[in-house]
Amino acid sequence: MRINHEQIREEIVQIGREMLNSSLVVGTWGNISARVPGKNYIAITPSGVDYNCIDASGIVVMDMEGNIIEGDMKPSIEFGLHLAIYNNREDVNAIVHTHSTYCTAMAIARKPIPGACEDLVQIVGGDVRVSTYALPGTLELGDNTVKALKDRNAVILANHGCLGAGKNLRETLKIVNVVEKSAKATIFAQLMGGVVELSKEDIDIMRDFYLNKYGQ
Ligand code: 13P
Ligand code: ZN
Repeated sequence: MRINHEQIREEIVQIGREMLNSSLVVGTWGNISARVPGKNYIAITPSGVDYNCIDASGIVVMDMEGNIIEGDMKPSIEFGLHLAIYNNREDVNAIVHTHSTYCTAMAIARKPIPGACEDLVQIVGGDVRVSTYALPGTLELGDNTVKALKDRNAVILANHGCLGAGKNLRETLKIVNVVEKSAKATIFAQLMGGVVELSKEDIDIMRDFYLNKYGQ
């Protein structure tokens, strides 16, 4: 069955509520988008609206140049960041941007999350880099994020938060949850004397397992 605009909007609303309930965002910060299947469009959350108050009609549909196709609300100020990623990464169909606490700690310290947790390296592809700082809502933030996201499914935005990019909304919500958990574990491990990173060889084996064999 082909997913239409309406279904993808409903799914974004649902993922937004789950993101809020998991304390990955506070109030209205963060944003969510997805490609509209079968169209060269994305659907994205409106700017500055509480996730409990967003309904499907509030989700904005845009083309890949940032023109509004459907919706009466202003789109997220980060639509340019989302479009920069979709325009550079064919494998990405959904993006979830959070301001979660432990990722924000890594972001303000400007420290990457090392490739040390098995679930992290499976779902993200290795360590989570920190993008070079740029102000929110700028084209520069999009460029810097695309660079730091190379060959990965998540990135830390310097002094800002976390961004996950995955094959669908459900997987992408899982990515930002695993990244948040890994940021927390990293900080605790640092308190106990440091993190032991996995080897590139073991990371590659686990990544291949996750992509090709894991699950049903
Ligand atoms: P929006 O509410 O416009 O999506 O902005 C929130 C945010 O996280 C900016 O980086
Ligand atoms: Zn943000």
